[in-house]
Amino acid sequence: MKVLVLNAGSSSVKFKLFSIEKWTVLASGAAESIFESISTVSFISKKDHYRHQEKIDNHTEAIMLLVKMLVSHQVISSLKEIGAVGHRVVHGGDLFYEPTLISQEVISQIESLEPLAPLHNHANLEGIRAIQALVGDLPQVAVFDTAFHHTVPPYAYRYALPNFFYDNLGVRRYGFHGTSHHYVARQTAKAMGKKLETLNIISLHLGNGASACAIQGGKSIDASMGMTPLEGLVMGSRSGDIDPGIIFYLLRHTQLNADEIETMLNTQSGLKGIAQTNDMRQIEEKIAHEDPLAILAMEIFVYRIVKYIGAYAAILGRLDALIFTGGIGEHSAKTREAICAKLTFFGVQMDMHLNTQLTNGCRSIHASSSKIALWVTPTNEELAIAKETVLAAGLQEEKN
Ligand code: ADP
Repeated sequence: MKVLVLNAGSSSVKFKLFSIEKWTVLASGAAESIFESISTVSFISKKDHYRHQEKIDNHTEAIMLLVKMLVSHQVISSLKEIGAVGHRVVHGGDLFYEPTLISQEVISQIESLEPLAPLHNHANLEGIRAIQALVGDLPQVAVFDTAFHHTVPPYAYRYALPNFFYDNLGVRRYGFHGTSHHYVARQTAKAMGKKLETLNIISLHLGNGASACAIQGGKSIDASMGMTPLEGLVMGSRSGDIDPGIIFYLLRHTQLNADEIETMLNTQSGLKGIAQTNDMRQIEEKIAHEDPLAILAMEIFVYRIVKYIGAYAAILGRLDALIFTGGIGEHSAKTREAICAKLTFFGVQMDMHLNTQLTNGCRSIHASSSKIALWVTPTNEELAIAKETVLAAGLQEEKN
């Protein structure tokens, strides 16, 4: 049995095709820079490693192209071999707390959440519809980025705004990256030989998007992203927390309108806004050459993370493990070191040798004297979605 996972972002579609027998990846690929004059299509299977550029006008076109490549590159002989499709859906709002088998009603409900995440939920829906057009009644499952955070209590998810906006417009914090935070927490507990229910964890997903999550006994009790993925940590090109007063100031004192300010906060801010690049590898290189703005960007990035760790340690009451994941969390030893250097008063002791080892897989990087376990745990949202899809679609999961 094969399961296809689709992850449609605002301007990209990534896919992975799994064989569920041993959860091996049969093929993966992406269409990136959709809507731009030239899009990039990549496709990797056992036999092929393929990359080309062509113009792709929308997500539907991208998904049709990628899915048909599975047949034309002989990964499968027909689309009928796919037993189910799992979709990462960004915003489940107050409606979805579990992976959900998609029906016409579910599509309408996801549609009703579009105002909360206009770019993302629309792309996710295009993905669902494209598969419907291609393979008719194939079971499709939506796995929501917000779902893991449904255990966050009201005092953490409500903003102190007049009730009207929560009651009528759903203005509250939702949190995102839930599939990733949940996955790495489970993997880390397994690697520690402990039950997730017994652990208090702070998970740091540090990629282009970045968020922290406080996990108590396996349940999310707070997450740094808010009503939208703009709140919280400093990210690749998103500002994270800012004084909302800045927006009114910019509206009054610049030519920017609301849409332009939103775009600036999402695409021109964060690490990119300060260091002129959102690529941590380039920032590290610039820091090695003593570039003052790269040094400042890193300091701001780390400082915000440390503030959240302090806050989350306080709300958890006890901290057992700190997890690093996402492109930066998994690969930037320098970022991990800079964060942990500010946490020694907590009893955090990093093993510098373990921290800089280039090994794959889930690994601990704390010294034996550390009061808090430090883990680098690669995230694998697609695998988590594939497994959820098999369960929600009612397909038999075969034993490894
Ligand atoms: P996305 O949120 O788009 O999925 P990723 O999780 O792939 O992003 O993370 C991208 C970030 O990870 C970029 O800032 C990139 O520079 C950083 N990164 C990837 N590999 C390394 C590395 N070896 N060293 C430092 N940073 C890295």
